[in-house]
Amino acid sequence: MTDYSSIAGFRPAWLGDGRKKLLIDGQAVEARSGETFKSFSASTGELVAELALAGEADVDRAVKASRAAFEGPWSRFKPAERQALLLRLAELVDAEFDDLAMLDTLEMGRPITASKGLRGMLQRSLRHFAGVASAIHGQTLGNSFPVELLSYTLREPVGVVGAIIPWNGPLFSAAWKIGPVLATGCTVVLKPAEDAGLSALRFAELCHEAGVPPGVVNVVTGAGATGAALSAHPDVDKIAFTGSGPTGQRIVEASARTFKKVSMELGGKSPNIIFADADLDAAIPAAAMGVFNNSGQVCAAGTRLFVERPVYDEVVARLASFAQGLKIGLSLDPSTQIGPLVSQRQYERVAGYLALGPQQGARLVTGGARVTEGGLDKGYWVEPTVYADVADDMRIACEEIFGPVASIMPFDSFDEVIARANSSRFGLAGGVWTKDINKAMAAVKRIRAGSVWVNHYFAMDPAVPFGGYKMSGFGREGGSEHIDAYLQTKGVWIRTE
Ligand code: NAP
Ligand code: MG
Repeated sequence: MTDYSSIAGFRPAWLGDGRKKLLIDGQAVEARSGETFKSFSASTGELVAELALAGEADVDRAVKASRAAFEGPWSRFKPAERQALLLRLAELVDAEFDDLAMLDTLEMGRPITASKGLRGMLQRSLRHFAGVASAIHGQTLGNSFPVELLSYTLREPVGVVGAIIPWNGPLFSAAWKIGPVLATGCTVVLKPAEDAGLSALRFAELCHEAGVPPGVVNVVTGAGATGAALSAHPDVDKIAFTGSGPTGQRIVEASARTFKKVSMELGGKSPNIIFADADLDAAIPAAAMGVFNNSGQVCAAGTRLFVERPVYDEVVARLASFAQGLKIGLSLDPSTQIGPLVSQRQYERVAGYLALGPQQGARLVTGGARVTEGGLDKGYWVEPTVYADVADDMRIACEEIFGPVASIMPFDSFDEVIARANSSRFGLAGGVWTKDINKAMAAVKRIRAGSVWVNHYFAMDPAVPFGGYKMSGFGREGGSEHIDAYLQTKGVWIRTE
């Protein structure tokens, strides 16, 4: 029997002695201060790596390298060269994919089977960005100026990008930040989350192995202060941020001093609506995994589950029994479906809401407790939890928990459920389950959110935009708007008479 209780036999060879440096100007370098920080396994509590802690001086060094690269040979790369580079990167990433997935699992605890499940999406994404590289184009525009002038637009890279990503899907987040950078000819300084920075670091190294010149892709591992230094740096042209609302607000404030272009992928409290005529055999498992996937640490989780009254009791019972059937276990065990939360801090946050639910009158149907038996005492596992009879104004129904907690609420009419679904300050995503196409389309039109899934939950693709309405942010990742955010438009006039 394989021993999944220690990371010892699972560490990718790349980790070596576990000491990792910053990646600046194509070189692995220590932080100027010599400071480091440690990253631990969310599943076993063991030390995974000790990383350099980038301070302001290091961020400045990385931004300078990024600027020099932006103005250097990289600016003369042809679209086809950037495309070839992205295709090579896709191959290198695929060849090393199991190790990259393992790095995420080792640090943030996502079950290994789920981490490995992202392979196709990552490949599609990198190959999509490769396609984009040779498809960027401006327009020729008619004008009515009194003298003859040809007018057209040029699409140019925005410049030095500061990318700041969270820990809940590090490899994927890094790819969705760096991919558009390489496609458009920008350069980047990437700041991963301190709880899970290794896969981003290795991904950036692979960019170099694929032929990216030094300085184009830099990684500054560190803490919140590292991200703050990046978002305040005067020579950063754009900040691409994924994370929480409060951090996003700090970044917007800091970026305002030099009017950086900013995109914000923030959190949510997404409604998932099951109408009585829905195919419940499909809706129930999808709605459950729409909450419990990655132990609920997913921005688009469908945590407000609205169920039409005639099927309410049935859905509550079947969803609870589905939740009870999920296999909670060590992250390295391929049969595990529910892994630990990322950290003690995240557990305390979730535990706070688990105490609040019943206090505010929600009915606990299943779950609600930490799990420590079976070798699960070194991390923070929370049972998939279902609350029924949740009122819209309870805090568990309003605030993003970022844990495996579903709130189920009954509804009686279409207009009522749409109004309640929209009563959130967030607007990241929503789900609709019905066999009635007209009802589905009416709901799609009225839900105020950046993504709506009908008879599905969680589909994502690099060709399709994803992002927030309201306090879930602004800007889109995926689709053409993703690329637009890395480009500037120049209007050009040429006298032709
Ligand atoms: P977070 O605390 O906002 O952290 C996100 C990133 O910002 C981390 O790299 C963090 O560094 C860094 N950071 C912290 N303070 C900063 C500051 N003052 N200035 C600049 N950067 C700073 O978010 P989290 O708790 O790690 O992640 C969970 C949140 O992300 C949830 O709200 C979730 O919904 C959201 N999310 C959204 C999406 C989306 O696409 N919409 C996707 C995934 C997650 P440290 O970690 O080192 O502190
Ligand atoms: Mg960790």
